[in-house]
Amino acid sequence: MSWMKTVYKRAPYRVRQLMANLEAIRRKRIRHGGEYYRHYQEMDIEKMLEENQREKQLEWLNRLLKHSGEIIPHYQDVLSIDEVACVGELAAIPFLTKDMIREEGIRMVNPQPQKGLWKGWTGGTTGSSLVFHRDKQTMHYEYALYDRLYEFAAGVRGGKVARLSNVPIAAPDVNHPPYWFVIYPFRQLQCSIDHVDGNTYGDYLKAMLDYGAELGTGYGFSWYLLAESMLAHHDRRLSLRGIVTDSEGLTDEQRIVVEEAFSCPVYQTYGTSEVGLVAVQCKEGHYHILDRCLVEVIDAEGNLLPEGEEGELAITDLLSMDAPYIRYRPGDRGILRNSGCACGWQSTYIEELTGRVEDYLVTALGRKVRRIGRLTKGVKGIIAMQIVQDVPGEIHVRLIPKDDFQPVFMDKMRQNCREFLGEMTITWEEVSELERAPSGKVRYLIRRF
Ligand SMILES: [Zn+2]
Repeated sequence: MSWMKTVYKRAPYRVRQLMANLEAIRRKRIRHGGEYYRHYQEMDIEKMLEENQREKQLEWLNRLLKHSGEIIPHYQDVLSIDEVACVGELAAIPFLTKDMIREEGIRMVNPQPQKGLWKGWTGGTTGSSLVFHRDKQTMHYEYALYDRLYEFAAGVRGGKVARLSNVPIAAPDVNHPPYWFVIYPFRQLQCSIDHVDGNTYGDYLKAMLDYGAELGTGYGFSWYLLAESMLAHHDRRLSLRGIVTDSEGLTDEQRIVVEEAFSCPVYQTYGTSEVGLVAVQCKEGHYHILDRCLVEVIDAEGNLLPEGEEGELAITDLLSMDAPYIRYRPGDRGILRNSGCACGWQSTYIEELTGRVEDYLVTALGRKVRRIGRLTKGVKGIIAMQIVQDVPGEIHVRLIPKDDFQPVFMDKMRQNCREFLGEMTITWEEVSELERAPSGKVRYLIRRF
């Protein structure tokens, strides 16, 4: 399909729109195939967010272990048990890493899959790409899940959607609208993330209003940039029913800005390309885990950490039978809580996603420090920033300033750095946009060594 992509990239706007709509017809047919409608009918998204059904999860887990041990070549070799007594008893089961998926390749999947496999590819922020498989049955479940989640967030069925994502709409140097087109099969205004800034935000709002968008989806940071411009200009002409973001995360402060600007709740999601949707964020900022997944937090040696301790996530996809992901380590870190969120949902949740495994800064003494969000806490006058590190002990900050920004505001950042990193050399510059990964995601930390 790469020639199609080349044709698309060289095509004029109207041809792009036509091609995107033809592709959407094809995708919609695939998405609504298999068991999609049965899942969609049976799914109660509110119940799924409110509580985890442990008995059902245990049943799914044991079905997965038995199937994997019998059918999947890799697990025929490594799985020594085919049943556990409770969902917390996973210690005897080996972890799965990206390197293992690379090495084992086709041995990770059912040689004769029931409904077929879908081949995926991730670019990887560290430059190491990954080819992986997903069980098509799981994907139909997930399409139904997303549709139910969108309905939940919008409060209506079939509401029109405004989506901000990295689908190329207009060339990056184009400086006049439209920066969007309608994808009719999905009732979606597909908007470019490449053109969102303080000058164009009004064009985006007008397009979304004219289209009648009720729900927002897509890249959180671009929604945040729109929201910042709206508040700066006291422009409240567009309110939505809800926004569901995927891709890069927003801080609590950024999320509040988006909620205020669009007068609606924001539901951030957490997932990975390999496993799909894992958790949905509540109003307290916590990511509640859906029944279809189990999440553990482990230390560097792979030991299970007690509730509330920060570590690496290991995810088990309970439904993916023909391409199993059991105790899979996607490279994300976080803090897990079993219950007690003030939002009222009783399900297990990730209290905080603390970054990628490779997201750390190196101090002058060679110490690796994680949880970089702490450095920017309380720094005023800034829309967003990105930290670049080329050598240990030094950092360079790229910041997008607000109108009222003053250099003295960076003293707070210096103070935070002293507290968490010790003495560091800090330089900074004002920029109009932040560097993105090839996927279009904003990277808040770039360490180049
Ligand atoms: Zn909650």
